[in-house]
Amino acid sequence: MSWTRHFLDRYLRIPSVSAQGTGMREAVALLVETFRELGCEARVIETSGNPVVFAEKKTPGAAKTLLVYNHYDVQPPEPFDEWISPPWVPTERDGKLFARGVADNKANLAVRLGALKSLGDRLPVNLKFTVEGEEEVGSPSLEGFVAKNRALLAADACLWETGGKDEQGRPDIICGVKGILHAEAVAKGPSRDLHSSVGVAVPSPAWSLVHALAGLRAPDGVVTLPGFYDKVRRADAADREALRAMPYDEEARKKLYGIKEFVGGVSGEDLKEALVFKPTININGLMGGYQGKGSKTVLPKEARAKFDVRLVPDQDPVEVEAALRKYLAMFGVELVEVHGYPPARTPVDSAVVKAAVESAREAYGKEPWILPLMPASGPMYVYRALMPCVSFGAGWPGANIHAPNESVQVADLAPAQEHVRRFLQNLAAVVPEAKPTAP
Ligand SMILES: [Zn+2]
Repeated sequence: MSWTRHFLDRYLRIPSVSAQGTGMREAVALLVETFRELGCEARVIETSGNPVVFAEKKTPGAAKTLLVYNHYDVQPPEPFDEWISPPWVPTERDGKLFARGVADNKANLAVRLGALKSLGDRLPVNLKFTVEGEEEVGSPSLEGFVAKNRALLAADACLWETGGKDEQGRPDIICGVKGILHAEAVAKGPSRDLHSSVGVAVPSPAWSLVHALAGLRAPDGVVTLPGFYDKVRRADAADREALRAMPYDEEARKKLYGIKEFVGGVSGEDLKEALVFKPTININGLMGGYQGKGSKTVLPKEARAKFDVRLVPDQDPVEVEAALRKYLAMFGVELVEVHGYPPARTPVDSAVVKAAVESAREAYGKEPWILPLMPASGPMYVYRALMPCVSFGAGWPGANIHAPNESVQVADLAPAQEHVRRFLQNLAAVVPEAKPTAP
């Protein structure tokens, strides 16, 4: 592990914040240097944004190829004063290693590289790595990068960037991610703010926005946008089995979130199904009119709402956007700043998932649990269009990703690395090749 810890320590000291444009080239340089040290061919592939580091290690006689996806960018560290130790100084405390980006997802790359290092010339598969630098800002260049480099990225399976364990220490195996659509709804009315006394006769953009939003989701959480659920794929028998085995401590979560009950009073299997398999529309922020102290009798000329839509297979973000646009237009509300990507998933009973599960059993001596679809989103669809994808890593429930005092548990690094090592070995044995060999 000392090699892994040493690399991680150097990697964590680089403030590679894509949103602020810092540390990008430094991170790229360290990665290229490290890949070469590990016997990989490595190069920097420029994109329209931050570059992708591509590395490859070929194994003579190996039939299978694994493509690994990670990102070298991290979230901004602010607010600084909430960090107990500085975000760019990796610090061990109470068995945890604290630094910005350690859980999301620098430690995951470190244990993957550590596994490669430990296998040396006994690597049982061909390995390819892609480490991008824009994941935390929505991966705007990733689709273009993959489209231009399809032949280079050809592989039998993809190991995605994220994963961890639950409160009982059971590792999770992630088979997919939700898609997302970010958007802003804008209601416009009079050419300037007016005295509110005219509100009896002059159309109010704030009311238009409220009426429009109210029609998108019912109080029980059901989305009422016409056609929204039409393409939602139903959970199959294997999905249901995974849901049943999925740990979810409702009472602990309610306490953590400070809520009395979940939306619509849902609980048990229905709650887990909602979290994993159901799409939703979430309001991120409402803006408009007077927000200052006291009262102001004004009819504001404009009102806005930022929202996101979490999408599940087989919803199409383009179709959902069109439906939203059409619906909001009935209230005179316009949709702007729309961007996002589709969901992606690999079946829970596929060979690559089975290899990940078996490897977790071997590495942790515990039964892992399968998450068919992460409630969060990521650009997995770009890779999933080419091959099956699975994800596991070194995270833990208290990791504070995207928040101050992000951490991994130091004791998790060794089994997480062993998980990767076993996965490489099992992958060689079980996963069928993506493309049939020519006769
Ligand atoms: Zn993240």
